[in-house]
Amino acid sequence: MPVTVAMVSLASCWGCYQSLLDTHEALLDILPHLDIKFWHTVTDFKYKDLESYKDGSIDVGIVEGVCRTEEDVHILKTLRKKCKTLISLGTCSTYGGIYGLLNLTTIDQALKRKFMEAESVQEPNIPDDDVPKMLDFIVPNRKVVNFEVFLPGCPVVSKDIANAILGLLKGELPPPPVRTLCDECPREKSEVITIKQLKRDYEGIPDPKKCLLEQGYVCMGPATREGCGALCPKAGMPCRGCYGPGPNVIDQGAKMISALGSIVDYESISPEELVEKVGDVAGTFYNFFLPSGIISKTVRKAK
Ligand code: SF4
Ligand code: SF4
Repeated sequence: MPVTVAMVSLASCWGCYQSLLDTHEALLDILPHLDIKFWHTVTDFKYKDLESYKDGSIDVGIVEGVCRTEEDVHILKTLRKKCKTLISLGTCSTYGGIYGLLNLTTIDQALKRKFMEAESVQEPNIPDDDVPKMLDFIVPNRKVVNFEVFLPGCPVVSKDIANAILGLLKGELPPPPVRTLCDECPREKSEVITIKQLKRDYEGIPDPKKCLLEQGYVCMGPATREGCGALCPKAGMPCRGCYGPGPNVIDQGAKMISALGSIVDYESISPEELVEKVGDVAGTFYNFFLPSGIISKTVRKAK
């Protein structure tokens, strides 16, 4: 018998469902096993369609995105009630994601910037008709409801989604990460690293074989879990940490700041120069993880 599935999108870019569709021919293996009951991203379902199911009557719920509005919270709690197993798909749902950076500002400032001040705005106006109330603070979805499975990534790599769904159809949960991204990165690393200068991504052309961190680029590999196959370093770009913290790492940003602090040669670059060179400290070290970090409590108190 096919597995019944309901999929919702909260605040997100829809990239994780795009990644699901990008599994291409693997869909031929997956789709015959699924009976999709609700997927408002691709079909004209209404929330009342989901609400009409009996509690616990749907086998699997999949959540993309994080709660940005009261409506998001309602749909997430409704999905939890209707589904036996809940999968958190992607980094926004799992850790708060890029939306979490909005915790550093107020709703009023964010709305003003987006609808009144942004360079692309032609008719400044903050909409208020039929707009769900926005939440003051973003938290990861697991603080709103329980999940059985987490599949982080921005977006989740397509083959991971396919493997996870095929595994779940056999009753197997995806294995937890045991290594960091550096462990699966093919770039050459030295036993001891010392950085004499820091470089922004656009500065210079990195050596194609050597570790990017050793070359002075802020690569989040030491603080990030395995899973993506080191996609970005393989393509010459430092990791931004989108898969979330490595095993036993509580706070991804703090871990990376600590790792960086321990390998910088402070005779070549002062702490002040380091901070100035990084520029956007929160966007660099907490791009995907702010609402899940220890720092989140401090940010909340300060608001
Ligand atoms: S720091 Fe980045 S480039 Fe260096 S080994 Fe780790 S993931 Fe690879
Ligand atoms: S290398 Fe880092 S930023 Fe790139 S996909 Fe992997 S975890 Fe995400």
